[in-house]
Amino acid sequence: MNEERQYENCRLCPRRCGANRLRGEKGFCGETASLRIASASLHHGEEPPVAGKRGSGAVFVSGCNLGCAFCQNFQISQQGLGRAVSIDEFAAICLALQENGAENINIVTGTHATPTLVRGIAAAKASGLTLPVLWNSSAYENEDTLALLKDVVDIFLPDMKTLDSETAQTFFNAPDYPEVAARAILTMLNMTKRLSYAHEDGEKMLSGVVVRHLVLPGRLDSTRAVIEWFAENAQDRALLSLMTQYTPMGVRTPARYVDQTEYETLLTWLDEFGVDGFYQELSPDREWLPDFSRFNPFSSELSTPVWHFLR
Ligand code: SF4
Repeated sequence: MNEERQYENCRLCPRRCGANRLRGEKGFCGETASLRIASASLHHGEEPPVAGKRGSGAVFVSGCNLGCAFCQNFQISQQGLGRAVSIDEFAAICLALQENGAENINIVTGTHATPTLVRGIAAAKASGLTLPVLWNSSAYENEDTLALLKDVVDIFLPDMKTLDSETAQTFFNAPDYPEVAARAILTMLNMTKRLSYAHEDGEKMLSGVVVRHLVLPGRLDSTRAVIEWFAENAQDRALLSLMTQYTPMGVRTPARYVDQTEYETLLTWLDEFGVDGFYQELSPDREWLPDFSRFNPFSSELSTPVWHFLR
């Protein structure tokens, strides 16, 4: 199916809204057929082999097809910050990241714009982009949409948010998330080469899959299920990244940070299941909360801005 038709009766993601995005209709993701970007920067807060020495070239796409109640990027995922860019401008943003030393191009939450982003990446490569391309997504994705990324993406960085349907319904109104995400991650594992690095010390990742899981305070059973699923399905083929940066965001979400007792329990479970990967240090403050209305949405330690939608 050509790209235009894919936006005409949009079924690109499991929401299957049927919106005619070509005519300016918006589905659950809040986006028409125009690709919109909010920010691009060298990001130092990703996992060590993703951030490398000089930072991951993060491109933050506006809109989102999942809409988590606790999203830290809600200004761009749910409130519409960003502006439309052409394919050529997208390619220029990627090249600017490369010129500024990015280790890779890290496309954040682009599921709803997959066909356009595939064209954008191809245009960037045709203009001299040589960096690995990384797809950073919620994993709430259809297999046939993911298939468009074959031969275009080198590294997948999917979330596995939960395997509990009630949690998925409560926080992102998607009770089918567990089965969809599990299938999507297995598809990604089959689509990419095995884990590989530019250096023997594992410093710079060139291909593979890193599965991310954000720990929700008070819902550790959900995390245990994810660690167990990873051990059974992806261990030896991927890395697990446990994120403990959850920040209270409003009345519908847990009102506290992950505490020390929960944190120690998590580390025990990683040992119990023999899971290899990354885990964040506890940081019970708002350090991770970006403000995308600023040229640098993050702290200067976390990010070096390269492009912003207001400039
Ligand atoms: S990509 Fe957007 S419009 Fe298309 S099905 Fe998903 S949420 Fe609906």
